[in-house]
Amino acid sequence: MTTYDVIVIGAGVAGLAAARRLHDAGRNVLVCEARDRIGGRVWSDASDPTCAIELGAEYIHGDDVSTWQFVRQLGLATTIAGRWDGRRIWHNAQLQHAVALFATDASLPALTTIEEQISAYAGPDISFAQWLDDNEYQGLARHLADIRLAHSAATTPELASIYAMQADILQGEHLGGNDHHIVGGYAPIVTALAQSLSIRFQCVVTAIRDDGDQCRVTLADGAVLTAKRVIVTIPLALLKIGSIAFDPPLPAAKVQAIRQIDMHGGIKIALRFRDRFWDDTASFFSLVDPAPVWWTAAPGAPYLMGFFTGPRAAHIGAVTDPLATCLDLLTTVFGDVVREQLVGWRMINWSVDPWSLGAYSSVPVGAHGLRPALAAPHGRVHFAGEATAVDGHSASVHGAISSGWRAVAEIETAHD
Ligand SMILES: Cc1cc2nc3c(=O)[nH]c(=O)nc-3n(C[C@H](O)[C@H](O)[C@H](O)COP(=O)(O)OP(=O)(O)OC[C@H]3O[C@@H](n4cnc5c(N)ncnc54)[C@H](O)[C@@H]3O)c2cc1C
Repeated sequence: MTTYDVIVIGAGVAGLAAARRLHDAGRNVLVCEARDRIGGRVWSDASDPTCAIELGAEYIHGDDVSTWQFVRQLGLATTIAGRWDGRRIWHNAQLQHAVALFATDASLPALTTIEEQISAYAGPDISFAQWLDDNEYQGLARHLADIRLAHSAATTPELASIYAMQADILQGEHLGGNDHHIVGGYAPIVTALAQSLSIRFQCVVTAIRDDGDQCRVTLADGAVLTAKRVIVTIPLALLKIGSIAFDPPLPAAKVQAIRQIDMHGGIKIALRFRDRFWDDTASFFSLVDPAPVWWTAAPGAPYLMGFFTGPRAAHIGAVTDPLATCLDLLTTVFGDVVREQLVGWRMINWSVDPWSLGAYSSVPVGAHGLRPALAAPHGRVHFAGEATAVDGHSASVHGAISSGWRAVAEIETAHD
């Protein structure tokens, strides 16, 4: 039986980035992937050759994050989605240009520096909701702050820890960085990462035993593989339900981190229209509940993408006709053209996807500082994946990639 140098569990970007680096360094690596595809929470729908529709990750958040290395290597084109100048806000029964609205509503301009305000916070760990109260964010300003910083982080203002938010802002790319679309989507990056790797699909890992000199990895079909080291990249929600049994058991600090760091649900809906009936200079639409977050899929493409997390995802997921719920709201905003022009739609509910059980991780009040314990190696078993990013870049593609590289660095310095 082959004893691999490393078995990587999960062919999402964290697992692929780790496996790629190990493979390129001459290590004998096997990737075990439960699904029948690579990419995990990066998944492009290629059914429309004119536009990649991203069912999972879509933007590069930041101007200088690890993803850019691949964008440059592969010569991929990108476009910038402006944070405020491209935004249209539904307010007083009108779709208004964010910048124009900010000029007329005195409560709103503070939003453009909200990251700076949060990074200057000094006090106990409180919820983002409490911070918004203390800083007199009310009405529309509060709604926009929620969808910009809590909803997009797949949490709620009531749950989100201001300490964790502050750390992400200070360490991450949130201050002044832009959001970028990759023209053609993330698929070329995922494909390049996976090239010539040994990947077993529909290969579900159920148990890992660390024998001290090697690891035994048990699969759902009962087969056992052996490796000197293992990198686990499965989503946090799957660690929470104990989908992999660890022997020896995980230490208390890691168990606490797994329990306390959140991973809430997320739904993405792609609506395809005959033509773009909206203002072509708009990239984001901030609307109202139950479906407040929309954007355009790519320059020139006739798609609107809706994204709902946490309780909003639970609501949209629970209504009997989610499409009708979205169309009702969009018709209020854009008029009957919405229903007249709709030619197709696709919805993905990551909360019920058995191999992710949610969108991405977030830190509630009281759980700040637990990510390093989640990331720490346990004997010969290493941990990567977006939730283990300790550099302020969790919940992102680039954070997942860097976490995979961090796990490889741990193995490289272990000298066996
Ligand atoms: C709707 C949505 C939108 C997003 N938008 C963005 C965005 O715009 N920009 C951005 O940067 N990030 C975004 N993200 C976050 C980004 O997609 C993730 O942070 C990143 O893809 C996570 O990668 P990962 O490798 O850590 O995990 P995953 O991609 O989840 O990979 C883990 C892999 O493990 C496999 N697996 C699970 N259990 C087992 C098992 N027992 N045995 C074997 N294999 C197993 C899974 O099938 C999966 O392929 C978004 C995520 C979602 C869901």
